[in-house]
Amino acid sequence: MLERSYEKYFRQNRLPHLWCPGCGNGTAMKSIVQAIETKNLDQDKTIIVSGIGCSSRASGYMNFDTLHTAHGRAIPFATGIKLANPELNVVVITGDGDCTAIGGNHFIHGARRNVDLTVIMFNNHIYGMTGGQASPMTPLHKKATTAPYGTVDRPFDACHLAEAAGATYVARSTAFHVKHLSDMIAAGFDNKGFSFIEAVVQCPTAFGRKNKMGDAPDMMKWMRDTAVMKAAWDKLPEDKREGKFPIGLFYQADFLEYTTAYQEVIDVAGGAK
Ligand code: SF4
Ligand code: MG
Repeated sequence: MLERSYEKYFRQNRLPHLWCPGCGNGTAMKSIVQAIETKNLDQDKTIIVSGIGCSSRASGYMNFDTLHTAHGRAIPFATGIKLANPELNVVVITGDGDCTAIGGNHFIHGARRNVDLTVIMFNNHIYGMTGGQASPMTPLHKKATTAPYGTVDRPFDACHLAEAAGATYVARSTAFHVKHLSDMIAAGFDNKGFSFIEAVVQCPTAFGRKNKMGDAPDMMKWMRDTAVMKAAWDKLPEDKREGKFPIGLFYQADFLEYTTAYQEVIDVAGGAK
């Protein structure tokens, strides 16, 4: 049962959701609305855009103006919305496959342009909806239906990728660290530019089962035990980092935002009026 204050953020007639029991996507979705509530964003001026995949079903459950777009294309749709009306808060929900494979080019170019979007990538380390194929975020040697002996492809570090491409806010958290995840998203809303937040979520069905990681509570314990807060991570010797990953704020910078830059062009060209 949802706390009353959050009911307004969800389409009650679309619930209960279709995610598997124990899936982390619902936790990440709730963290987004908690961040929206914390920052007091106007519900009528906040747009949720998603691509395709388990994560991207969230836009169907959230009571905002929403777009469920084509696979990998959430960021260009969101860019169009933001350019048409820069007043809007535009939030993108995407998965690891949607964001870093099919939409990989859109991801890096959205970051390069520093479009004022808040992109939240639910990273379950696999293509969950389509049957558990390896994604660019599947860790080395982990199993997938397309890698029954373990993948030999090195995964991306999506946060490094976002930073290198030009994002001006980059953070990571997990579905175990609920308050922290919500705080990372809320701080992303404050950034006037491309904000990227990786939300590590458990997928007990496609990823956990395939890799004998146990059920949802076991996977959440795995997140608890392997995620290290950034400040502690920075002090961790290299040989102690194996099998662990950092969470927290990784990068923040001020840079000219895309719709602001574009408005300058419109003004120079004689204005849109
Ligand atoms: Fe969640 Fe995985 Fe089930 Fe998709 S397949 S709904 S990510 S548990
Ligand atoms: Mg995925």
